[in-house]
Amino acid sequence: MSAVILPGTTATGQQSTLGVMGGGQLGRMFVQAAQSMGYFTAVLDPDPASPAGLVSHFHIQTDYLDEQGLAQLMQRCAAITTEFENVPAPALFTLGAHRPVAPGADAVAIAQDRIQEKAHFERCGVPVAPYAVIETAADLAGVGADLFPGILKTARLGYDGKGQIRVGSRAELAAAWDSLKNVACVLEKMLPLAAECSVIVARGWNGEMVHFPPQLNLHRAGILAVTQVFEGNMPVPSVERSISATRSIAEGMQYVGVLCVEFFVLADGSLVVNEMAPRPHNSGHYTLDACDVSQFELQVRTLTGLPLVPPRQHSPAIMLNLLGDLWFDAAGKPVTPAWSEVLALPGTHLHLYGKLQARQGRKMGHLNITGASVEEVRATALRAAGLLGIAAF
Ligand code: ATP
Ligand code: MG
Repeated sequence: MSAVILPGTTATGQQSTLGVMGGGQLGRMFVQAAQSMGYFTAVLDPDPASPAGLVSHFHIQTDYLDEQGLAQLMQRCAAITTEFENVPAPALFTLGAHRPVAPGADAVAIAQDRIQEKAHFERCGVPVAPYAVIETAADLAGVGADLFPGILKTARLGYDGKGQIRVGSRAELAAAWDSLKNVACVLEKMLPLAAECSVIVARGWNGEMVHFPPQLNLHRAGILAVTQVFEGNMPVPSVERSISATRSIAEGMQYVGVLCVEFFVLADGSLVVNEMAPRPHNSGHYTLDACDVSQFELQVRTLTGLPLVPPRQHSPAIMLNLLGDLWFDAAGKPVTPAWSEVLALPGTHLHLYGKLQARQGRKMGHLNITGASVEEVRATALRAAGLLGIAAF
């Protein structure tokens, strides 16, 4: 990309519009960051009530591959980004032929496919869990016994633990692959995890790169539940290794934009890369309140070619994910979460995504907790979790 896309009104009286493919909560927080810096925004998402569409200046309500929708987006926007990895890569190729698009279609295509993704990690010299590719019935027979117990994951279109089945034996593997309709999969060895973490980097058009500190993540039922970020959240060697691995993974595909890489930490402190997201990530939501530059502002800066400054975390932070489960009591009766009580706790920051319907497991929002010390943040987070009916951590 050549010229920087500047925010606000220019000397010639023009204002730039930034576009985003996808209208989920990540798109919404991108739109909010772009708007607060003075950009206009356009969202392409078929859903009339999409969280980002509801707050954007322009909302193009078409399918991701609709030619007219893509043409409108290009006509309106100076540059375009994406907020979920399942945006069809061909749509990004089309847009990329006419406008700066970050991340690029090539990088998104790698992240969309676990088989390509693992090959990329291995090329970058970052260890992955032992695995086998399952594309044909013959592949089932060739699976080594050491991969059991394992997790069968669809190569494409999985998220929040969907499209994954745990298998203990070859017979279970065959049945699981049938139940996934025999699509391309990977079988991963189940590893004993001491912890999980993720690292977010932002890389510009000129190759400049900045990173956030590693996030310590707790998943429940395959969905991120709690993220904790403060000095000492992980042993120093794991911190250093996860940052340098993430940087090589971004560098290895000449990535432009915000990238999150998820890792497993094993008992001996060694790291195994799990997967990557070519966009801001749920585990980076604490940056909205605990850092001087958020992951969404960095997404804006990478897309527009504005300078990247290394983000500084100014407060220890804990993020609690607010799933739709909180809108129901034990008997399944709808309830309203105790917002007033939660917000009475100093250092709590509520982010709700404007989703009209709560459902079990649906990401409705998150609560960031900041404070003067780790102890204070932890105590507040546990009180908030108790008020909301989130299990202690
Ligand atoms: P998301 O995109 O929301 O992160 P996903 O559907 O892509 O989720 P994964 O990240 O592959 O799923 O797995 C979800 C969770 O399941 C992991 O965070 C981890 O807790 C557990 N898990 C996945 N693979 C393994 C493994 N090989 N060994 C042990 N646990 C695993
Ligand atoms: Mg994951």
